[in-house]
Amino acid sequence: MAAELFRELKQLISLRSLKARIFLIILLAGVIPCLFMRYGILDNYEERTVEQRIATVQNQLLVIGNHLISNNYLNNTPTEENGNLVSRDVIDAELETISNLYEGRVLIVDSSLRVVKDTYGISEGKTIISEEVIRCFQGVNTSYYDKQHGYIEMTVPIVSASAAVDAEGQNTSDAIEGVMLTSISNEAIVSTMEVLNRRAVLLENLIFVFVIAIAIVMAVVLTKPLHRVTSAINAVQAGYANEEISVPGYAETAHIVEAFNQLLKRMKALDDSRQEFVANVSHELKTPMTSIKVLADSLLAQGDAPAELYREFMEDMVSEIDRENKIITDLLTLVKMDKKVQDLNIVSLNINDLIELILKRLRPMARKKDVELVFESMRPVVAEVDEVKMTLIMTNLVENAIKYNKEHGWVKVELDADHQYFTFKVSDSGLGIPEDSLEHIYERFYRADKSHSREIGGTGLGLAITRSAVIMHKGTITVTSEEGEGSCFTVKIPLTFITQ
Ligand code: ADP
Repeated sequence: MAAELFRELKQLISLRSLKARIFLIILLAGVIPCLFMRYGILDNYEERTVEQRIATVQNQLLVIGNHLISNNYLNNTPTEENGNLVSRDVIDAELETISNLYEGRVLIVDSSLRVVKDTYGISEGKTIISEEVIRCFQGVNTSYYDKQHGYIEMTVPIVSASAAVDAEGQNTSDAIEGVMLTSISNEAIVSTMEVLNRRAVLLENLIFVFVIAIAIVMAVVLTKPLHRVTSAINAVQAGYANEEISVPGYAETAHIVEAFNQLLKRMKALDDSRQEFVANVSHELKTPMTSIKVLADSLLAQGDAPAELYREFMEDMVSEIDRENKIITDLLTLVKMDKKVQDLNIVSLNINDLIELILKRLRPMARKKDVELVFESMRPVVAEVDEVKMTLIMTNLVENAIKYNKEHGWVKVELDADHQYFTFKVSDSGLGIPEDSLEHIYERFYRADKSHSREIGGTGLGLAITRSAVIMHKGTITVTSEEGEGSCFTVKIPLTFITQ
């Protein structure tokens, strides 16, 4: 349990688990837009508020600038006794109000760069040389927002009433009689930003917690069908369930389950055929043993049986032992057939010569039944084959054609080739194979006519061996047969051996 937990944790950390990936994707999808929104909205808000503030202050200063001009403020010193003194106080009051309202400082600079008025009262009478002021005199209004120190600085021109305006709508430098250099605090903006920021962070944290909760729930819920598939497969593996598993959930899990069920079916079929094979082998091996035991028991029971009887029974026993031997040899050959293609010993072989040799070996057997053996070759054939296995194929087919033939019958062997394959055909005038047996004749231990086959010494393994050998050569074997008329086996093998 602890080991499983540790393994899951390791998978989560290394992001190999789907759960971890779903969790991360939902988390990122929830949190990233949130962060973008926060920075986007707050930054935009700050920018717009500063712009609005600058526009408002600039407008108010322009109005005051007009007052300054109409009262000839720039050309009078505060100590001068003239009729404008009252208006001057009014203007000073206006300037004072502005600087109080915006917590700022207003400097009025005349054309000789002398500070005529400073709302702080520090720089009056001094000369100011600043880039902004000079640029303003040249007709360029400047505004600058110092985010770090929290103030906005701007210059507004004081333009004479008969101002000349150039083609671009800018005041010409001659018309600018003075400049108002203003710096205002943006404390209010900063504190509003702080409040908004704090709220945004709070909201963000809430969303973060909410998204984490959703991500965990989704990761668990979305991967549940996969866990169900694993549990179902484990149950089959542990032997609790033998039937097909069913995990409806996603189309994908349904596909996995379907593929698994197919595999299970195939494995079951394999297991069944293996069990059947073992049962068949035991049965086949037991039959000669039982006969031997019966023969031996009856001899023993008789006590003083005559020597001829002994001899007769012994001969029967020897033939049963031969049969047992043949079954074992065939079984070993079949097992060897299951080995890999690499075990084939491929050589270039004259097939005509091989058939002649095989027929020569089988002629005595055919003669016993007075079966005529004919060989018809359309052309000389040389092919890349395994000699031993090819001999097995041909011997089995011709032997069967003789074994399952009538007295005085015939067996015809034909050989032909095209540019790709050679065809080896064995037809006989024998008993034929019943139609319902045709699809089974390649099965191990299958005999179309059980008693007859056993009688003539068949093991039921010959055609299984033949088919395996043909498949190893990437060839095909087909059969046509008519009961009572005869059969025809056709084997087609590539002339050059195909490794893949
Ligand atoms: P066996 O060792 O019994 O001959 P095979 O695998 O070679 O086993 O053949 C399987 C069965 O197919 C045989 O038992 C026989 O009934 C049938 N069979 C095979 N070849 C022929 C044939 N040429 N004519 C008739 N029946 C055949």
